[in-house]
Amino acid sequence: MLPDFVGRLSALLGPAQIVADPHGLAPYVQDWRGRYSGTALCAVFPRITAEVSAVVQVCAEAGVAIVPQGGNTGMCGAATPEAGPPCIVLRLDRMNRVRSVNPLDNTMVVEAGCILADIQTAADGVDRLFPLSLGAEGSCQIGGTISTNAGGTAVLRYGPMRDLVLGIEAVLPDGRVLNKLTRLRKDNTGYALKQLFIGAEGTLGVITAAVLKLFPKPRTSAVAMATADSVENALGVLARLRGEVGDRLSAFEIISHSQYDLVFAHMDNLTSPFAAPAGWYVLIELSDTLAGIDLLAVMERILGEAIERGELEDAVVPTSEAKAQMLWRIRHSVSEANKRAGLSVSHDTAVPLDRQPEFVAETERRIRALRPDANVLFVGHIGDGNIHAIAHFGHAAFPDAAAFEGVASQINQIVDDVTIALEGSISAEHGIGISNRKRLAQIAAGPELDVMRRIKDAIDPQRLMNPGKVLMPLRSEQPVRIAAKRSRK
Ligand SMILES: Cc1cc2nc3c(=O)[nH]c(=O)nc-3n(C[C@H](O)[C@H](O)[C@H](O)COP(=O)(O)OP(=O)(O)OC[C@H]3O[C@@H](n4cnc5c(N)ncnc54)[C@H](O)[C@@H]3O)c2cc1C
Repeated sequence: MLPDFVGRLSALLGPAQIVADPHGLAPYVQDWRGRYSGTALCAVFPRITAEVSAVVQVCAEAGVAIVPQGGNTGMCGAATPEAGPPCIVLRLDRMNRVRSVNPLDNTMVVEAGCILADIQTAADGVDRLFPLSLGAEGSCQIGGTISTNAGGTAVLRYGPMRDLVLGIEAVLPDGRVLNKLTRLRKDNTGYALKQLFIGAEGTLGVITAAVLKLFPKPRTSAVAMATADSVENALGVLARLRGEVGDRLSAFEIISHSQYDLVFAHMDNLTSPFAAPAGWYVLIELSDTLAGIDLLAVMERILGEAIERGELEDAVVPTSEAKAQMLWRIRHSVSEANKRAGLSVSHDTAVPLDRQPEFVAETERRIRALRPDANVLFVGHIGDGNIHAIAHFGHAAFPDAAAFEGVASQINQIVDDVTIALEGSISAEHGIGISNRKRLAQIAAGPELDVMRRIKDAIDPQRLMNPGKVLMPLRSEQPVRIAAKRSRK
């Protein structure tokens, strides 16, 4: 039966667009962190929306689940198939055309498989900015970033992915195409269906194209890195910067000394601008669309005043682009360094700014009480309230995966308890996927989870779209096996 099914897909797309051998499939059935792996009948590579629609229809008829996959850089295992009911991985790589760029209304129509960095370049080509920026931008796809509602370093000024999408084209679980590729800023024609697909992690349909918002390109910028002895003091600088420069503050990132040291221990070609160690490092960027404004002077003055007040210990404001890029490289090296150094129990927390110091102190205290051998790291887009608390262990800290998972769930509980007590969110930008689904089920109180389930039921009654992600799979929700379904025909 199964070869028959794969044969149908092969007839639809051509044999070169199907990968079914275990060796070829390997990269598509495990996640970026190497924490999850599963099985799939095959990976398919459609090129146009009509092919996605046809593949989805074949799967719906056969009762085979679909795991949409972009660059496979997600942090929660949301793009990884699980062992169990038959499924395919639907890769969007070949749907990578920029359909149009319109500098007059500041929009761009792109296909879901476009790499984020290519979209930034295409916007730059018409003297515009597409502001989403994150460490994986050279390999993540726009469909993946929309489906996770990714954040990154520019949220402070431009908002997360949800704020950057005007319209969406998506293939529904029955194969129909929902075309909401509007370039309009105002469109009150009924429910805003596009919002359902943003952040849905592929559980409601396959995004095939989107209309993105573009922005005027900054012509002046200034980058700085500074050191502070506490999160409170770093937040004091944030408040003053915002008060003075307003929306020109485009990034305000924080790195704990433990995380900073780990980056330098495991990554090459990085140079620290500071001779003395510090408790906290902040990376700041100011930018303006008007040319000729001396933002370097503004940055130097504000940081100089902060040093005089004792809020900052030291600061560097590079005058060359290369040195500014080096500071950003330090920040963007964090995920890769942590992966090379060992095992991370990572959290993607948002708490209100005035609760950040308490969050940092309390999570560190409780994690250390549980596991004194944990290296507790903090890094995040603190300007928008998002901080990642990471309990990090050496490669040999656990005898097996089960021991690691046991400790990970205890640490998750600690961080969730602190987060909820401080009115925060357990997933600011990475999503739910496999990693956080149990935690979501625990904390989504009252009608929240029930409404989510009803939406899933309404749009994907067969439960074939990325099953088991976001919402815990119920026993009754297991997809029908191909053999059973076919034998009824
Ligand atoms: C080094 C590094 C740094 C990162 N930094 C950040 C950061 O600063 N901020 C941040 O928010 N995230 C960050 N991330 C994680 C981030 O979620 C991803 O990089 C990105 O959003 C996922 O894009 P992707 O194309 O790789 O999606 P995938 O990982 O392939 O998929 C993610 C989810 O989207 C679904 N999906 C993918 N494509 C589609 C589609 N076309 N239609 C429907 N569903 C789809 C998948 O099923 C899955 O549920 C980082 C990751 C790495 C590796």
